[in-house]
Amino acid sequence: MSDNDRLDPHSGARVHIVAARQHRPNLPSSECPFCLGGLESPEPYDVKSFENRWPALETGACEVVLYSSQHDATFASLGSSGIRKVIDLWAERTTQLQQQSDIDYVLIFENRGAEVGATISHPHGQIYAFDHVPRRQHSLLHSQWRPDPQPADRLIINGDHFAAYAQYAAIHPVSLVVAPHQQVPLLSNLSDGFRDELASILHKTFVALDQLFDAPLPYMMWITQAPAKTQFENAWLNIEIVSPWRAKGVQRYIAAAEVSTEEYFNPVDPADIAQRLRSLVV
Ligand SMILES: [Zn+2]
Repeated sequence: MSDNDRLDPHSGARVHIVAARQHRPNLPSSECPFCLGGLESPEPYDVKSFENRWPALETGACEVVLYSSQHDATFASLGSSGIRKVIDLWAERTTQLQQQSDIDYVLIFENRGAEVGATISHPHGQIYAFDHVPRRQHSLLHSQWRPDPQPADRLIINGDHFAAYAQYAAIHPVSLVVAPHQQVPLLSNLSDGFRDELASILHKTFVALDQLFDAPLPYMMWITQAPAKTQFENAWLNIEIVSPWRAKGVQRYIAAAEVSTEEYFNPVDPADIAQRLRSLVV
């Protein structure tokens, strides 16, 4: 562990000091590096991934995943077929990165919207490939995470292979899970039929999310999968989608009582969010 990769001896929190990222450029939108002809995309593409020029990790790997060459596209506007291409790329990158000897855990994620720190609006996600299993993922996998068996009034979409529901102990006003009904450790283990249904459910979910407050919803999305090296029994793939908005343009902040205690006070009933999303799913 380098001096920039620090463990708090009391809380066990791991902190990466990434001061070099302070010098990242803030590009004007007219010079989007992800649009065709831009710095990162000289050639036409549907979806693509590449190494992040501004990696947050000193070890492992950091990549950018572009969902579309269209600057104004959203996850919802990709449609099921566009999302299916993203799923295939996520699976391919996970497999490739997990083959590297210095990589254990591949985190696929997205921040959408300035409210959650996205610096470029062009639709894209990221990958952080760690040489260890981060603490939260370790905790979820160690406890044999599996989908809520009875989401009841928190259920949003129930497919043949996947369900989307609002989390029971939701930390954020919008806290959703999309997970397969049966145990699948990795995206790469999903058959064509499963991938198609996952794409369809994600599409419906994101269309509904962008209608929830009649505005593009700022959100964070991440995927939990099995690590490459550390073995866990029954690692169960799942996708979480969370948003800090509790109303249009109204951000709910995680503040002192919550940061200090890791106990949360959510002003929104997950069943209410689920009911509203169900009514918006077409
Ligand atoms: Zn662009």
